[in-house]
Amino acid sequence: MLDTEQNSPVLPPEIDRRRTFAIISHPDAGKTTLTEKFLLYGGAIQMAGQVRAKGQARNTRSDFMQMEKDRGISVSASAMSFEFRNFWFNLVDTPGHSDFSEDTYRTLTAVDAAVMVIDGAKGIESQTRKLFEVCRMRDMPILTFCNKMDRESRDTFEIIDEIQENLAIDVCPASWPIGVGRDFLGCYDLLNDRLELMDRADRNVVGESVEINGLDDPKLAEHVPAELLEQFLEEVEMARELMPSFDHQAFLDGTLTPIWFGSAINSFGVQELMDGIGNFGPKPQVRPADTRPIAPDEPKVTGFVFKVQANMDPKHRDRIAFVRLCSGHFRRGMKLTHVRTKKPMAIASPMLFLASDRELAEEAWAGDIIGIPNHGQLRIGDALTEGEQLRFAGIPSFAPELLQSVRSTDPMKAKHLDKALNQFAEEGAAKLFKPVIGAGWVIGVVGALQFEVLASRIELEYGIPVRFEPSQFTSARWLTGPQEDVDKFIDINKGHMALDHDGDPVFMTRLQWDIDRVERDYPALSLSATKEIL
Ligand code: GDP
Repeated sequence: MLDTEQNSPVLPPEIDRRRTFAIISHPDAGKTTLTEKFLLYGGAIQMAGQVRAKGQARNTRSDFMQMEKDRGISVSASAMSFEFRNFWFNLVDTPGHSDFSEDTYRTLTAVDAAVMVIDGAKGIESQTRKLFEVCRMRDMPILTFCNKMDRESRDTFEIIDEIQENLAIDVCPASWPIGVGRDFLGCYDLLNDRLELMDRADRNVVGESVEINGLDDPKLAEHVPAELLEQFLEEVEMARELMPSFDHQAFLDGTLTPIWFGSAINSFGVQELMDGIGNFGPKPQVRPADTRPIAPDEPKVTGFVFKVQANMDPKHRDRIAFVRLCSGHFRRGMKLTHVRTKKPMAIASPMLFLASDRELAEEAWAGDIIGIPNHGQLRIGDALTEGEQLRFAGIPSFAPELLQSVRSTDPMKAKHLDKALNQFAEEGAAKLFKPVIGAGWVIGVVGALQFEVLASRIELEYGIPVRFEPSQFTSARWLTGPQEDVDKFIDINKGHMALDHDGDPVFMTRLQWDIDRVERDYPALSLSATKEIL
């Protein structure tokens, strides 16, 4: 049976009401503020503002680090679940800084949709564009929220044009702003014919909402001053002529994005956006795996690890694997097969993340994100099933672009450094290479800021002061080929070889020329800049 609205199979009600998404934005556009308001309307917290306050106090939120506060960036991803109307939302937090693209990329493999937040004065910024491209590669549906409309912002047509031209996606206005900056009054909800008025007096209060019987309704003039009304009516007429109307299928295909205008800090436009996520979806989607596609309504449970986070709570040295459930109805205590090792795992204390609290998950459904505490068995990319041997596709690991060696500045603590580094490698926070000859480690990252984050975390979480120093190498490539050839190659090139944290051989060099030479001289071997984590 097909659900005509979403053109997809009818799902069990609990799966049908799940919405799993991420927010993509450039730093400072308002992602944190919007998240707080989501949680506020999701009933997950009493008062917006508590996400930060509680997080700092309890260290369970991702942005607990001093460095993050100083720089105003969010370093690692976490998940939050909350209910809104009849829907169950799973919001996966993406790190905003460009240095964390790999982590972000993996996070986006765990969601079905993205909310793109842009600053109404700035439009599309560099990081928005990068993240958008990642979503586009998967044809992911995108909802757009144009934030900070309470301030001087760009002309509405200009904003929409910029998105259409820069990102090559059709844009359909779901709401239309009335007035700009200080004169910003609110929005007309074009999908539901309502006038939404912003309440400037109380930021946590949702303003008045007036049902309007079309744009000719005299009620409009009762709420909108004449000089604003005239311009607004002209603009909407033009917009309706020039812009596509909402097409649900085009949205689900990722070729059209509805845009809402609002002000997260004033709680304005947020509920309309949430209604959009709820009503338009998408619902949990079919996931590609190596053997066959996995549908969410299959009775058996499957899922994959997209994120491992260590030391979320410094008091408990736990490690949480974040798992996206792809099918079935999960119950606490279930025995699942850890496909990589083929071993059974009893999932005794799965976690649900509700705002800044975690809670035991008695059950969970396809689409949900659960956290599984473990001692390092669960790695990024690992699949969990009820016995079936399968691997979920498309979770990549990138070759680091920057290499540095690391040592502890306190020789007494040097031996604990191994443990700390291994832990971060398992989290996917850095690549760890053990040179075949000599002592020490080479650390590889995608962006320079990651070195600072690592140094700060090693000090904070393990009490080990460390220093990163330039390595003699600048590139790392995974080496694959017939075992005999690989072994022979390693033997001849010991000074260039290292093993990564999974024990796979890596060729390190500072010259592209070296890489070309290996490829030419050793046709049986290949050097690769990515490794699928499987
Ligand atoms: P993030 O870096 O994307 O998480 O952005 P934040 O949510 O931390 O917001 C960045 C800054 O913009 C903060 O100072 C917020 O208070 C401010 N901000 C967020 N939303 C709005 C808004 O709707 N209007 C105005 N004027 N400021 C906002």
